[in-house]
Amino acid sequence: MKRLAICPGTFDPITNGHIDIVKRSLRIFDEVIVAVATNPKKRPLFDINRRIELIKKSLQGLDRIKIEAFDCLLVDYVRKRGGVAIVRGLRAVSDFEYELQMALMNRRLDSEIETVFMMPSEEYSFLSSTMIKEIASYGGSLEGLVPEVVAEALREIFGAGRCNEE
Ligand code: ADP
Repeated sequence: MKRLAICPGTFDPITNGHIDIVKRSLRIFDEVIVAVATNPKKRPLFDINRRIELIKKSLQGLDRIKIEAFDCLLVDYVRKRGGVAIVRGLRAVSDFEYELQMALMNRRLDSEIETVFMMPSEEYSFLSSTMIKEIASYGGSLEGLVPEVVAEALREIFGAGRCNEE
């Protein structure tokens, strides 16, 4: 039986940190679904279709992955897809409390589904989509932090950045 993992998130937008976690997941699991939460409550910068498009372009060439939107309870989605695990990235101790709470709640909701935590490469351990948007809004360099398609999409929104405009 193929072992399927689900990597859920908002991906607003996808960063090299996310990509690192997806690639690590592929080393352990046979198949991975990158599950993009619609998450209107978070008021994402990129709408769901654009987030999916940027993920597809960023993960081009990787086999054994699928990218999908979901807008139901995560465990229900994972069960429906036949996943055995939810993979989450842990960047720092500060992520731990919230992630532990979620993992235990998800286990309570469905004890068959495990949550697996993965640590990214150190160079991405400080990286978040929020920080990327902040840097982009000031026109800072995103070199090495996000795929070029994402940097381009952010430039379309923010232009040269607040401090670099004449
Ligand atoms: P969410 O809104 O669910 O937190 P995110 O898109 O912010 O969605 O994150 C999705 C997943 O990717 C989470 O497990 C998060 O911890 C992980 N993640 C985000 N950035 C990084 C990073 N730089 N390194 C490793 N994991 C990361």
